[in-house]
Amino acid sequence: MAERFEIVFLGTGSPLPSADRCGAGQVVVAGDTQVLVDCGWGAARRLRPAGVNPASIDVALFTHMHTDHMTDVPDFLFQRWTGGATVPLRVFGPEGTQEMVDGFLMAMRRDIGFRQAHHGDKLHPDGIRVEVTEIATPRGIETCLELGGLRFEAFEVDHFPVVPAFGYRATFEGQSVVLSGDTAVCDSLASACRGVDMLVCEAMNVPMLEGIIAALRAGGREREAGLLGDVPSYHISTIEIANLANEAGVGEVVLSHIIPPILNDAAQEAAFIAGMSELFSGPIRVARDMQRVAVSNRGGPPRAVRIK
Ligand SMILES: [Zn+2]
Ligand SMILES: [Zn+2]
Repeated sequence: MAERFEIVFLGTGSPLPSADRCGAGQVVVAGDTQVLVDCGWGAARRLRPAGVNPASIDVALFTHMHTDHMTDVPDFLFQRWTGGATVPLRVFGPEGTQEMVDGFLMAMRRDIGFRQAHHGDKLHPDGIRVEVTEIATPRGIETCLELGGLRFEAFEVDHFPVVPAFGYRATFEGQSVVLSGDTAVCDSLASACRGVDMLVCEAMNVPMLEGIIAALRAGGREREAGLLGDVPSYHISTIEIANLANEAGVGEVVLSHIIPPILNDAAQEAAFIAGMSELFSGPIRVARDMQRVAVSNRGGPPRAVRIK
């Protein structure tokens, strides 16, 4: 029997506050292997309720150094340690990852000492250690990690001025899923998506965002409207995702990193993906925090271009 290959969504939001959506984070589960990809605000608190033991995660990948992808690292490390971890966490990510980890460990230095003084050898000293490998910016798509039968490849995406920023493709038992990271529509994402079974993509609904910007302007909140007006330049729209998925022969699309944030509500989700199914014929869903989605064999050859 095939072993399970699934994505556990911890946080499906962005930096924009949301009642239902934490910052970006997901766990790739392949057989007995669990890999954390990003750990934004609130993602660590989703682990246990989502059925993931933090201490069973020994590897974490990061896409880029934006807060909404990494500010729960201290809480994850703490949960992992007190959960019984006895080996260092191995962390992989772009340039800046070492600095990010060092900074968080520095902030936790006193806490770590206090816990050790209080709990003694009930906490393994290696369980709070971190070993970082910074991945050189790939040319094209390059293997960055192999864990048993699970392979991760990294590719650079366009999240300028966030440089470098990565997406990842995970392959297990012949099935594959692309995790877009944060990106505008770009050729490297399209190439990585060729024939994959699932695309987990960050997503921005432009009309919804424009509506919020207009309301802020009408209320005299020019500064906030201006900040939100900067958002589209480095994110991908729902319509662009549908076109890309169609052209690349993606099997299934799962939207995460939802901009603007919407509630766990079927009507809002339907409005968020409006117009996509006319461009992409496969399944499309909006992920919710703590959802598990199985990667199943759906990918195919690139399809003919439909409507631009
Ligand atoms: Zn983000
Ligand atoms: Zn970002």
